[in-house]
Amino acid sequence: MAKSLLIVGVGFMGGSFALALRRGGFKGSIYGVDIKPETIDKAEELGVIDGGGTELGLVQEIEPDYVVLASPVRTFRGIVRGVKPFLKEGAVITDLGSVKGKLVYELEEQLGSRFVGSHPIAGTEKSGVEHSFAELFEGKKVVITPTESTDKEALEEVVSLWKLTGGRVEFMDPMLHDWVFGAVSHLPHAIAFALIDALIEMSDGVDLFKYPGGGFKDFTRIAASDPVMWRDIFLENRNNVLKAIEVYENSLQKLKELIEDEREEELTEYLKEAKQRRLSLE
Ligand code: NAD
Repeated sequence: MAKSLLIVGVGFMGGSFALALRRGGFKGSIYGVDIKPETIDKAEELGVIDGGGTELGLVQEIEPDYVVLASPVRTFRGIVRGVKPFLKEGAVITDLGSVKGKLVYELEEQLGSRFVGSHPIAGTEKSGVEHSFAELFEGKKVVITPTESTDKEALEEVVSLWKLTGGRVEFMDPMLHDWVFGAVSHLPHAIAFALIDALIEMSDGVDLFKYPGGGFKDFTRIAASDPVMWRDIFLENRNNVLKAIEVYENSLQKLKELIEDEREEELTEYLKEAKQRRLSLE
């Protein structure tokens, strides 16, 4: 019999996950719960979900085989408290959240071994179900963060779901995940938000935002991301984000001193090394 799936938080990621599963051949029903009734209406209208509502009690009615948490990360604990009493035996729970670390262990404590943390390394600065699309995960990394207690069968089921979406699964320790993505994702977002803040500060007498160059637009694209989602990421991965900001402050200080002291050669070396590292990404 086809398995059913419930997405909690039918926004950009949850919506894209549903569309990607359908495209990959998932045959079961896909339901959604969202705090906003208009989001559920829109998701139904767009054919993203087969049905849904605003209450977690829906779990009791539909008895999903899979529950996927796709709301901002700091809502997960409360949602899990709400769904747990209604979960059927053997249901598998996973998430699409950008923070893993101790959150994974806490959710596992609440839900048991059939919770499997996952984080798709795919996304845009857009939010909302109206921006979701089926190809989002195609060829993209998906980091799954099992622990020693994770049920092997549940893990395989989550891996199979991700394979249907076209994602390339990798495994990582939950704590290591937060250090890595604190550095390569959360820090750049923090810097982009802070750069905009700096320009607001400097726009005294002249509106600097009237003169954005290509570089400024490229660099700050991610500052258009959802504030609530990013507030939750920064607070949930607080220690790693603070450490990364500190290291970045040191790098900026180094650059500042090289400019201040007009140390031409060292400044060129600093810039050369950064350029080479960036080019090696291509
Ligand atoms: P989004 O704002 O598009 O969607 C979030 C949805 O969750 C909204 O529809 C909102 O109404 C709903 N919601 C909020 N609180 C809720 C609650 N308590 N119960 C039920 N629904 C609730 O955001 P998104 O970009 O889809 O991000 C969702 C998750 O995906 C986040 O945990 C984020 O960390 C993760 N993520 C996002 C990206 C990205 O690039 N956008 C990439 C990887 C992971």
